Amino acid sequence: MSVQYDLHSHSSASDGSLRPAELVRLAKLRNIDVLALTDHDNIDGIKEARLEATQWGLQLVAGAEISVSWNRGKTIHIVGLNLDIDNPILLNGLQKLCEFRQWRSEEIARRLAKKGIEGALAGACSFAKGNIIGRLHFARFLIEQGYAKDMKQVFKRYLVQGKPGYVPGDWASLEEALGWIHSAGGQAVIAHPARYRLSATRLRQLLGEFQELGGCALEVVSGSHSRDEIQRMAQLCRDIGLLASAGSDYHGPENPYMDMGKLPVMPANCVPVWESPDWVSSLEQQVTVVPDSPSLAL
Ligand code: AMP
Ligand code: MN
Ligand code: MN
Ligand code: MN
Repeated sequence: MSVQYDLHSHSSASDGSLRPAELVRLAKLRNIDVLALTDHDNIDGIKEARLEATQWGLQLVAGAEISVSWNRGKTIHIVGLNLDIDNPILLNGLQKLCEFRQWRSEEIARRLAKKGIEGALAGACSFAKGNIIGRLHFARFLIEQGYAKDMKQVFKRYLVQGKPGYVPGDWASLEEALGWIHSAGGQAVIAHPARYRLSATRLRQLLGEFQELGGCALEVVSGSHSRDEIQRMAQLCRDIGLLASAGSDYHGPENPYMDMGKLPVMPANCVPVWESPDWVSSLEQQVTVVPDSPSLAL
């Protein structure tokens, strides 16, 4: 059997519902060999996931999904992989995004209150198990309170642009996000490119800027891509010389539309990000040399 990769997943350190250790155990059950934990704008779950992965013989890639505002406020997600989670430049950058999220959550709650929905901040916080608060936590609160019947409906009614609970993002610039990732020794990947609904020209512009800043890969295989989108993104990678990544974007069993361990195979002729020299050298740096234990004098 070939090595199974899932390089995009979320735990309760951001808006996933499983604890990092639970996520790793599920990945093992689903026959994943290499799992990247890529929580939104933070790396708080990595240590727990890494410890669990060691016990189960699974390779854990330290990652993060960084929120970026690009081209007049369009939100784009950049996944960083093989990050040094102690790097101060990365940590400082993520801290700024975390602070913005805190302010934004208060603003979302104020806007919802104006529409007669009280207690949204406390409600959303009751679903957040880590330091990150996001729209998915508000979505869970609104569904619990009966304002919508499911995830699709709650986002459409309350949480997307033009709706009462939407607050424009003031995230990192593309340059900042890639700077943090590269400072931490990682590789930058554009997450779920088909989700942004960019025109072909705009997408090319994004990819051009991304490549100029040293970005290396596009998420070709994604839990949120159709088969056609996978083929289209694979073609783009070949055309402009980007590597290809694969990730489920798993958020927990409540969101069954993106399951774990069910990703389609990487299209032929794409070069997977895990075959790049940078990836291989990241792995080599992570191999910690365990000194021989001194022999016991009996
Ligand atoms: P945030 O980064 O806090 O603005 O929230 C973005 C997150 O909300 C995504 O990572 C998804 O987990 C979730 N999300 C966004 N749009 C939808 C949608 N239409 N349906 C379900 N979840 C969504
Ligand atoms: Mn999410
Ligand atoms: Mn995303
Ligand atoms: Mn994600």
